[in-house]
Amino acid sequence: MTLALGVLPWHAPYWAVLQQYIVHKRVPQALLISGNPGLGKQQLALQFAAALLCDHRTPDDQACGHCNSCLLQKAGTHPDFISVQPEAEGKGIGIDLIRLLLPKLALKPHGEGFRIVVIRPAELLNNAAANAFLKCLEEPNERTVIILVTANAGRLPATIISRCQQLKIIPPPRALVTEWLIQQQVRADHAILLNMAQGSPLLALQYAEENSLALRNQCFGEWMGIARQQCNPVTVAEHWQKLPSAPLLNWISSWVADLIKSYYSVQRTHFYNPDLQPLLQELQKQLDLTGLFALYDVLLTAQKQLHTQLNKQLLFEVILIHWFNLGDT
Ligand SMILES: [Zn+2]
Repeated sequence: MTLALGVLPWHAPYWAVLQQYIVHKRVPQALLISGNPGLGKQQLALQFAAALLCDHRTPDDQACGHCNSCLLQKAGTHPDFISVQPEAEGKGIGIDLIRLLLPKLALKPHGEGFRIVVIRPAELLNNAAANAFLKCLEEPNERTVIILVTANAGRLPATIISRCQQLKIIPPPRALVTEWLIQQQVRADHAILLNMAQGSPLLALQYAEENSLALRNQCFGEWMGIARQQCNPVTVAEHWQKLPSAPLLNWISSWVADLIKSYYSVQRTHFYNPDLQPLLQELQKQLDLTGLFALYDVLLTAQKQLHTQLNKQLLFEVILIHWFNLGDT
């Protein structure tokens, strides 16, 4: 993904808040940046960290990009920048990582300025790690700023949330994102991409770059095939378990939500997938509403299980067999 430097257009109001912290020298010691995936939370966190560490900020208080501190950050060797992330994909942030952090925080920062700790994704702090981490928040060291980044603040303990200043990023207005997607030279249908990405610009861009619309349409074809009893749910699950699960579950949930909307004759413009509306409308006539609600519940449960070590084949089999049986009524 290639992105221009500088504050992203939809971050302007959030940057204004962060900038005020710098201008008034009232930087919170713990900041929680939350919002859906694809809104650029990490980029904002890192831009703020870079600005706090920079020796010669620009007039609008962003990092200059070429002072000694900025160069050390770019090289990933700044002694006062600490990043805490899971050691591998699919893993949590365990107590070992927090135990490594605690002695570092007990010391003064190396330089005269701030020391920044960025924890991402913060919802992956397991219970033991979260409890150990609370100590950092309760006894903040001088000049230390802890930035937590999360797509799921609801999974963080209330004891952590209550000690943080919160910055919630919400999906930006469609017109702004459409203009930005045009600047990024995205040619695929912006409205469909944004619906698929639930309004998140970076996710829409990623979908465009990965040609996810074709994949989504292929999956929808298989999904419809199961409803028509033409495809075997176990065979389709075998294909789907190899695909990225999080977007796929979002897409399935949006198809089911649109089927429920069809049942209530909701207008096409309010559909998550307006392009699929004629097919969904037709299909809905053969389906039972109670069964659709039950399937929606199954999907919500599946989404909560995504971060656990689950068997994806089994996960999709449960969903697709449920769906197959709905079509059989
Ligand atoms: Zn600088």
